[in-house]
Amino acid sequence: MSCVFVLDANMKPLDPVHPGEARWLLTQRKAAVYRRYPFTILLKAAKPTARPAPLRVKIDPGSKTTGIAVVNDATGVVVWAAELAHRGQQVQERLAQRRVCRRSRRQRHTRYRQPRFDNRRRHDGWLPPSLESRVHNVLTWVERLRRSAPIAAISFELVRFDTQLIEQPDITGIEYQQGTLAGWEVREYLLMKWGYRCAYCQKQVTRWEVDHVIPRSRGGSNRVKNLALACHACNQAKGDRTAAEYGHPDVQVQVGNPLKDAAAVNSIRWALYERLKQTGVPIETGTGGRTKWNRAQRGLPKTHWLDAACVGASTPPVHSTGGHLFSH
Ligand SMILES: [Zn+2]
Repeated sequence: MSCVFVLDANMKPLDPVHPGEARWLLTQRKAAVYRRYPFTILLKAAKPTARPAPLRVKIDPGSKTTGIAVVNDATGVVVWAAELAHRGQQVQERLAQRRVCRRSRRQRHTRYRQPRFDNRRRHDGWLPPSLESRVHNVLTWVERLRRSAPIAAISFELVRFDTQLIEQPDITGIEYQQGTLAGWEVREYLLMKWGYRCAYCQKQVTRWEVDHVIPRSRGGSNRVKNLALACHACNQAKGDRTAAEYGHPDVQVQVGNPLKDAAAVNSIRWALYERLKQTGVPIETGTGGRTKWNRAQRGLPKTHWLDAACVGASTPPVHSTGGHLFSH
């Protein structure tokens, strides 16, 4: 259950209220429903109020679903949360439909039309329409929330992992240190690099282990250049052998290839980040590793909106919603 956003008579956002209070205000005719998504009420009488507590919009962008949460940093309360379902595939289908329609109209030769100049050019920062629609969905909601709530900051998950943290040579015993932020960033890196598959049997694994391509006991390091994803069975079978000795020289080659920046950084996320910057609201960027680490530390289940609430270093130590939202 989310809080209800409140606007004063001059359309200025106030502190969100509990739905019970909103219902009372509505039945007493002290307020009117202003907008349904997000649910916002408008107070009829202008009353002098204290400055509302600043809130933070937090965004975990995804290709199919984007999580959005509005968090009060001072109290650690998730005031409002939502999951946006994107319509990428649908956009593609509709455009194909339109193309067919227009082509058939041209084929009919019902009127003469002069050939046009070749003046179709893609502007800078052009994205395919299906991706553009995702960017717009998120921007639209950020704008809506800014009109309904006292938003003072944005947190945005920009990249999957922190390239600086994973290269720290002093990370030791990653398997035993998955409780550290660096450990989680390494996990994200390995998941991306190995595509969620065991490096040896290529099976898609949900429970995987970090494998030292050259074992620690044989002088292999703890750096990401020596780490691969492996399923439990392969990790056990490999034992104290190097990947080459285990019959997988390919893994030994692949582990040395750096993950290309382009693969780690997603074009939609950057486009969205650039446009969020134009709103003028201060933006904090986070990594996927930190989001998961924050969520694990707070013992929260995996959902898109909870991921959103856990984006960024600013995430308050306690996440509560007055005992409401978290008991979903
Ligand atoms: Zn395997």
